[in-house]
Amino acid sequence: MNEYDSARLAAILELNGASPAFKPEKADIILVNTCSVRAKAEESAIARIWDLKKLKTENKGLKIGVLGCMAKNRGESLLKDLPFLDFILPPDEYQKLPEILFQKTEPAPQTPFAKLTNKYSAFIAIQSGCNMRCAYCIVPYVRGREQYREPSSILKEIESATVAGVSEIVLLGQTVNGYRYKGLSFAELLKQVASIKGVERIRFVSPHPIHYTSELLALLMSEKKIAPHVHLPAQSGSNSVLKKMKRQYTREAYLSIAEALRSFNPLYGITTDIICGYPGETEEEFKETLSLLQEARFDGAFMFAYSPREGTPSASEKELITEEEKKSRLQRVIDLQHSITLERAKLMLGRQERILLEKLSRRNSSEWIGKTGNFKKVIIPAQPSFKEGMYVDCVIEGLKGHTLQARTSTFNFGCTI
Ligand code: SF4
Repeated sequence: MNEYDSARLAAILELNGASPAFKPEKADIILVNTCSVRAKAEESAIARIWDLKKLKTENKGLKIGVLGCMAKNRGESLLKDLPFLDFILPPDEYQKLPEILFQKTEPAPQTPFAKLTNKYSAFIAIQSGCNMRCAYCIVPYVRGREQYREPSSILKEIESATVAGVSEIVLLGQTVNGYRYKGLSFAELLKQVASIKGVERIRFVSPHPIHYTSELLALLMSEKKIAPHVHLPAQSGSNSVLKKMKRQYTREAYLSIAEALRSFNPLYGITTDIICGYPGETEEEFKETLSLLQEARFDGAFMFAYSPREGTPSASEKELITEEEKKSRLQRVIDLQHSITLERAKLMLGRQERILLEKLSRRNSSEWIGKTGNFKKVIIPAQPSFKEGMYVDCVIEGLKGHTLQARTSTFNFGCTI
């Protein structure tokens, strides 16, 4: 979401006559777009902002602004703590940017579309905010309640992206599959996106388990342009912990979604987020998370030791688990998940896949990096015809760590994902 917002802010700046400076030393405007989801993210942003202070002595006209969730979360106190800042601007006030920077009092002629950051894929925000109130999460406090973007503006932005050569569309929202607009459901929006000429692969992030309707599941199984991968945060495998987290689903409900997707396609990519050592989590409850990993066979996971986020309900809960124990649980989850990720990657060996080329490998310029529909990273030897955003048919013939290695195939399977 922040990458999308940064791209949108870049589009606003360009619309007002600014052009990109490729080094902070050359810039007259520096906007730091921040994340508040973990305390560590805020600390890193503050350290980065302090580094910019010296540029103000070299360029007296330089304006530095802090945007994003930290601007909302810390508010005016940021201006006191970082007195060299010119302004702060939270996510719900970005329309004020032209006025602050360019003294423009009239609204922009049209809502600018996000500036594309690459040639093949576009992030398109369809929803912002979150109505969920998970007990450990700061997002609803900094991003506010859910707001859904008008379908016509979403479809227009996607059409512009495809005209610029983009073929992969990633729909974004805090609980993206909860999208609705005057009777139009998320599944119906997906259908409209799939009908746009030039759209070849559709992804969406991050869905919430409670919004997996039967209508959505049926569409995921029938619409070939929707990539067979989902990042579906589970957080815990224990019903009692899920209840304390206020996640609003049970382990069984979560697993039933995974089962539906995998019974349709055993290679359906499912990745997740896991929190270890939530306040009060017992060894038994933690073992239920390990067993969830075993049962769901995730293709990958972002795994974290719980850290309290000030301002959230769970931050006031007494923590009985030591930092050492949290780290040890995290390591156990990581070790187990790594072995499952490897097993899942091995299932791809020998398969014919269509990958989307993303970039030339930085480590080895004779190799390209691409992604399969089920979101596996693939390395493939370069060919003169290769270019960013091209779809290539290949055969998976090896593994390097968890990364698939492939060779091009002359076989054309006539599918788009
Ligand atoms: S669903 Fe829960 S974890 Fe996700 S953004 Fe909303 S409150 Fe946070």
